[in-house]
Amino acid sequence: MRVLIAEDEKKIAEFIRRGLKEEGYAADLAHTGPDALRLAEENPYDLLLLDVMLPGLDGLAVCAKLRQGGFAAPILMLTAKDRVEDKVKGLDSGANDYLTKPFAFEELLARIRALLRARPAEASTRLTAGDIALDLAAHKASLAGKELDLSAKEFSLLEYLVRNKGRIVTRTMIAEHVWDINFDTGTNVIDVYINYLRNKLEKKPAKKVIHTVRGKGYILKD
Ligand code: CA
Repeated sequence: MRVLIAEDEKKIAEFIRRGLKEEGYAADLAHTGPDALRLAEENPYDLLLLDVMLPGLDGLAVCAKLRQGGFAAPILMLTAKDRVEDKVKGLDSGANDYLTKPFAFEELLARIRALLRARPAEASTRLTAGDIALDLAAHKASLAGKELDLSAKEFSLLEYLVRNKGRIVTRTMIAEHVWDINFDTGTNVIDVYINYLRNKLEKKPAKKVIHTVRGKGYILKD
């Protein structure tokens, strides 16, 4: 899952980015309204965290413009003021939810998970493919009932493959949804992570789960 954090207070933005990264999210930062707008239009984000008070263009205007342009991902508004007026304006401009600063990071995570779950066809916190089961709320994966020991990044990659099971996913698609904007496309990081997953998923008896499609990418079959 890839998130855009639009927040001009750099310390807060960096704190959120680091926290989301630890949870396996890919997260990019925008420090002004126009930057947020440009990044959100250029990249396939799964969620936008949008501060109301942003220089250049405020969060409400960014939100309204994105929705007018067809931006479909959930938007979680951050507001410094606990004012009913701001919340109403935020929701009216197309936000799905709001959170008042200061907030507990756990609450931010819970709201992000709820918004991602609320998307059509993703109402469940469990995903499965063959013997693989993912518990998205607990961030746990298991293979034939046995819990897998995965890093946050491995979990994200597996989640992306399972969500797209039976479909070819290219390295570009993986990079765009599992890694952030600083991803260096010249490296073989994705292939390395695919191999980590294979080592954990394809133990004895030998069963191929992640198939390589030459020249295209990967496909997870159950
Ligand atoms: Ca701000």
